[in-house]
Amino acid sequence: MRLYTRLPARGELLVKLKHYQQKGEYDPADKRVAIYLSHIQELADYKLTLFHEFAHAVDHLLFDVKYSERRIEQIAQNTYQTNEELFEFIKEMYRLPEIRFGKK
Ligand SMILES: [Zn+2]
Repeated sequence: MRLYTRLPARGELLVKLKHYQQKGEYDPADKRVAIYLSHIQELADYKLTLFHEFAHAVDHLLFDVKYSERRIEQIAQNTYQTNEELFEFIKEMYRLPEIRFGKK
């Protein structure tokens, strides 16, 4: 689990991230979730992005990629609606720092 306050300065990955304004990523090879904070403006979005990438991780580890991108996003949205406290659990477990998002 890794939080990036700045985008990684590496060639192809950086181009992809900038082009798609990607907020997060799960890398199956490294079994690693990355969150790109510079593409995230508010706490709700941060939580949703975390749930989304963790859903990818669980999907990959338990089912070897069974769900579509759309289904993963549904799972993330459902988790946010019904089980938002999971965020605190993840935060605790991975010792994530408190992130303050500026008001728009
Ligand atoms: Zn995804």
